Amino acid sequence: MYLLGERIKKKKRVIVKNPYDNSVVDTLGQSDEEDITKAIQAAKAGFEILKNMPAGERAKILEQCGHIIQERKEDFAQAISKESGKTINEARGEVARAVNTMKLSSLAALELTGKTVRFDLAGPSKKIGFYQRVPLGLVLAITPFNFPLNLSCHKIGPAIAGGNSVIHKPATKTPVSAVMLAEALVAAGLPKQGISVLVGPGGAIGMGLVRRHEIRKISFTGSLEVGRLITKECGMKRITMELGANSAVVVFKDAPLDLVAKKIRKGGYTLAGQVCISIQRVYIEEDVADEFMRELSLEVKNIKYGNPILEDTEMGPMIDEAAIQKAEKFCEDAIAHKGILILGGRRDNTIFLPTILLDVSEDALVIKEEAFAPIVAVNRFKTVEEAITKVNGTKYGLQAGVFTNDITKALKCAQGIDAGGILINEFPTFRVDNMPYGGTKGSGLGREGPEFAIKEMTEEKLIVFDQLP
Ligand code: NAD
Repeated sequence: MYLLGERIKKKKRVIVKNPYDNSVVDTLGQSDEEDITKAIQAAKAGFEILKNMPAGERAKILEQCGHIIQERKEDFAQAISKESGKTINEARGEVARAVNTMKLSSLAALELTGKTVRFDLAGPSKKIGFYQRVPLGLVLAITPFNFPLNLSCHKIGPAIAGGNSVIHKPATKTPVSAVMLAEALVAAGLPKQGISVLVGPGGAIGMGLVRRHEIRKISFTGSLEVGRLITKECGMKRITMELGANSAVVVFKDAPLDLVAKKIRKGGYTLAGQVCISIQRVYIEEDVADEFMRELSLEVKNIKYGNPILEDTEMGPMIDEAAIQKAEKFCEDAIAHKGILILGGRRDNTIFLPTILLDVSEDALVIKEEAFAPIVAVNRFKTVEEAITKVNGTKYGLQAGVFTNDITKALKCAQGIDAGGILINEFPTFRVDNMPYGGTKGSGLGREGPEFAIKEMTEEKLIVFDQLP
């Protein structure tokens, strides 16, 4: 754990292991109940400093933090790859994005403004007034294992930009890069009270923090199940929830099928499908289904899986045994629901093989729930209305992709699909860090992207002037 500018050694340790071969990556002090109180005390002091710090200074710290990450980019990438099991190239991509997220957060600090308010709408008034955006106070950032650096930056960057202090509870499996990020922030000039990282089990440390009344805002990224628990327990706090999904792609018959297959190779199997916007469902127009399946199988068969630290590995392991067993269960269930197994469907040690299923009934787990595994289910449709109904037939709604040159069909999908983002002629796995990002239904509440997140980390404060007689 990391508190007041130092890594804290504890008797109880969290042993971080590489999901590929179970080798020890690092050991960190495990936080306890007392540390929650210490972190809150530090964050209160941090907030007093940060809310009074000029926005320009906060912006400089965030920008400088981005420079430090850039200078240490290979150290960060190695740490991320080892603790999360993502390939070294995926990890390098994440580090580059994190540098940009810090830069965007720095800009958000500079651009945060209020607005004047009119008081003469119901008749003449001498009053003038405006609102400013002011920080909320103590922000709790709870992050998942799959993007341990960049998703942390998406919370910590905008929180500090807005003048808040932060307590970070990273995923227990991936706390190494989180501590490195806190060190980079303090090295960049952030007061040491401004950030702490508590390491330990979500149910104890995460929930212990969630229940503390001193926290004003929780920004959570993780599963719908844990999101629901937090929402139930958090009391009167602002919340942002970035939750799961089972993203779909609709492919009409006029789409370039070879290109779409290449996109799905990336969007369905990157990080072994452990991405919230991973492609899990493909709806293909019936006339071209056979041709499309040939193209897709050729692509997916060629995915090179193995040791994530090797330069030419395209897909690494699952995060843990439970994730592998869940993937196995989803495949068995799909086959029991009339699905045809085209590729994969089984494990090779810690890796779950790239899997394609075809013609699975719409009430199977792989259609209804989040697999978070390298599994893509392909089903057929006849009309645009049928495709939209099928895409919408789940409790999630994060992003969806549509491939067609037909503007009418594209527009119908864009308007009819219930999701936070609709990507026409792009896969739903597409994300750049400045876009508004978040879901509808069980995929969440609120939006990330520093320009949007900073609004969720601040509130309006009204100031009104009148003339004395
Ligand atoms: P998770 O829900 O198991 O854990 C997320 C975080 O919550 C971890 O830090 C964990 O320790 C903590 N936690 C667990 N139980 C808790 C509790 N009772 N109280 C407080 N905190 C608790 O998720 P994960 O397995 O780390 O990540 C995968 C999930 O995250 C998937 O569902 C994925 O779709 C989702 N995700 C969403 C987005 C998005 O932006 N929408 C991005 C990445 C991942």
